[in-house]
Amino acid sequence: MQWSLSQVELEYYRYENNLLMAQESPEDSLDELRRSFDVFFSRIRIVKSGDAYSSIHDEPQIAEALNSVSTYLESAARLMDGDDQTLVAALPTLLSNARALHAQLRAISLRGIMVSAARSDQQREDISHTLLRLAAGTLFLIFALTALLLWLIHLTRLNARREQQLKRSSQQTEAIVATSLDAVIVANRCGQIIEFNGAAEQIFGYARAEAIGQPMQELIIPDDLRARHKGAMERYLRTGEKRFLGAGRIRLRAKRKSGAVFPVEVSVSSVLAGKDEIFVSYIRDITKSLEHEEALQRARDDALVGERAKTQFLAVMSHEMRTPLNGLLGTLELMDDTALTPQQRKYLDTMRVSGRLLLHHVNDVLQISRSDSGTETLSEAPFDIDTTVAEIVESQRALAHRNGNIIRTERIGALPRAVSGDERKLRQILLNLVGNAVKFTTDGTITIEIERVGQIRGAAMIEFRVIDSGIGIAEADLTRIFDDFVTLDTTYGRRAEGTGLGLGIARRYAEAMGGEIGVESEEGEGCAFWLRVPLTEVTKAAATEPAQVPVPRVAAKPLDILIVEDNEINRFVLRELLHKMGHRVDEAHNGRDGVNKAASRHYDVIFMDVSMPQMDGFEATHAIRSGNGPSHATRIVAVTAHALPTEVALFEAAGMNDWVIKPVSRQKLQALFGAPPTATARKATGAAPRTLDHDALQELRDSLPEGSFAKLLRGFMEETDAAIAALPDRVSASETPEVVSLIHQTAGACGTFGAERLRKALSGIETRCKAGETVEIDGKLSPIWNETREALQPQL
Ligand code: ADP
Repeated sequence: MQWSLSQVELEYYRYENNLLMAQESPEDSLDELRRSFDVFFSRIRIVKSGDAYSSIHDEPQIAEALNSVSTYLESAARLMDGDDQTLVAALPTLLSNARALHAQLRAISLRGIMVSAARSDQQREDISHTLLRLAAGTLFLIFALTALLLWLIHLTRLNARREQQLKRSSQQTEAIVATSLDAVIVANRCGQIIEFNGAAEQIFGYARAEAIGQPMQELIIPDDLRARHKGAMERYLRTGEKRFLGAGRIRLRAKRKSGAVFPVEVSVSSVLAGKDEIFVSYIRDITKSLEHEEALQRARDDALVGERAKTQFLAVMSHEMRTPLNGLLGTLELMDDTALTPQQRKYLDTMRVSGRLLLHHVNDVLQISRSDSGTETLSEAPFDIDTTVAEIVESQRALAHRNGNIIRTERIGALPRAVSGDERKLRQILLNLVGNAVKFTTDGTITIEIERVGQIRGAAMIEFRVIDSGIGIAEADLTRIFDDFVTLDTTYGRRAEGTGLGLGIARRYAEAMGGEIGVESEEGEGCAFWLRVPLTEVTKAAATEPAQVPVPRVAAKPLDILIVEDNEINRFVLRELLHKMGHRVDEAHNGRDGVNKAASRHYDVIFMDVSMPQMDGFEATHAIRSGNGPSHATRIVAVTAHALPTEVALFEAAGMNDWVIKPVSRQKLQALFGAPPTATARKATGAAPRTLDHDALQELRDSLPEGSFAKLLRGFMEETDAAIAALPDRVSASETPEVVSLIHQTAGACGTFGAERLRKALSGIETRCKAGETVEIDGKLSPIWNETREALQPQL
């Protein structure tokens, strides 16, 4: 453009020059003139109307110049296109007009060039801006592209990793499915098998290739279950109701390729694989485990039957063993009254000790089997804790003394005197504990502590502690000694014979009573067994209320007695004992015979065995009572192996007045009839009691193994020394209950050793205390004891 504008002036000069030349020699220069005019003309036209020059048209100076030049050119063009003559004539005008335009042409050139230069600059600047923007854009684009690239790389890696994971997990799944011990069968919604693993091949007998594509229903479902399966599947597809699906393991049956039907455990779940639902079944062949289960069940049933049979056998055997044993013990007692050499008496003693031990064991076994068979019930009757404990202590005192032991009772704090509970069980537990303490302690102390330790559901929680200073128990054995048949061999060697059932029974009874039992001990340091049982507190009146209507005791005169007993030995023992006591005895061999005999004449007492064949004691008693015979109101004494509370109630209901527990002994009969004639006679005289009952002392000496009497007596004397010294001046049951208990114990011991006067004095104090009196002792007992002591001295 700039070039064109600069050409405008040049072409003008060329035109002006040609005008001059045409004036000089028109014939040679006219053509050249016309050519230069045309060039000039077209140049001006281009500048005036070319789009490229539009920017300079806006300049008023240029626009005006262009117009003037165009006007000139228009008019000149007509001359140029005319004939030569006219043109030559017009040459001077043309020249002068052209020269007049020169300044404007120059303006066009210069101004045009300036404007276009400015425009070019502007454009360059614009371009440079554009280029800068472009560069910035490009840079941004490069950044964006780089980020995109990085993101794409990241995505690609992620994808690759996911793909890897997917591949790995699908390989794992495949491996799991392939190696699973359960058959894994996958089916589609049409029921066609799409996966069939190795275990499925083994279990069902089809190769994978054979199974794939087959309808599952026909391949593995037994014919009789097919309709059910089809129905369930259709229902699910229709309603979405699930029965088997997701219901865990279900026991069903399946069919092998061979057609054999076998038990399986199946769990089916439905899974979405993409858009398709598939059903995955895990199937386990349980043929073997069912067989094992059945075998186990059979073995358990057999074992249970065996166990029941054993318990039954034990119960029957121990029960049956008691009858002959009772016979033996009774006969031994009879033999005692015959003339015997000292040697024979010693043998007899040994036999009696062994017999009693055997009876004890048999009773243990019977109690355990009864407890385990669930026939043992809990009874509830009022009783006096102190009396129960005192009786247990009394029964063990002689044995304790024989081992050189001191045995004492300590009541701690306020205790309910009268309680209600199963006294027989409590007695048995305490007897076992005290018995053990006596057995495993020599030259030591046995303390029975009683304390109220809390309240539970309206009952007082009473803790009994039997503490001894004996051989103790190693820590490792502390819990197992409560198991059955556990007896410990101590470093001291076996001290005592035992079945190992005593603590087992104690534990069972404690639990049955809602209590607990336990022990604390250190080897060589003695034991502290504790028993915690809930006992309901009752008023004293309820506790002392007689359990049955008192029947007048028969006077100690010769009586007419009927024995109804099927066992010959028992009959013999009872008859002999009664004969010896001076009574007249008739015998009946069974219940019916007894009823007949009772109907034929009057008897003062009837001894009625409880269990007899054909007609038992209850029936026979009932028959006698309901008849009008001469003995219908006679006192009837049940002879029984055990007087459980439930049985006692039955005796009473049947009309029996009393009961005696086998083995029947002279003492038991004496207790039943009142004091023996000799004692009665003594009492009847009303004379002051003797200091020492030599008969009683002799009886004790006879009943003990040789040598132990002196030891025992010494123990008694030491204990009584201590007791008398410990007595305060005043005693009362409310303020010094432990002293009353000490008095009670000492009185008992005096009875055993024939210390009659002291016993009487102590019993008198005890009775008055229990009646609520405060008794002044004031050293009154010491002289009696000193006198007794002196009398006893020669016996040592
Ligand atoms: P056993 O009939 O043998 O006495 P138990 O069940 O009563 O049976 O006792 C089990 C064992 O516990 C006993 O053999 C004895 O080893 C141990 N034992 C029980 N009481 C005591 C005790 N007071 N001192 C030491 N050991 C005891």
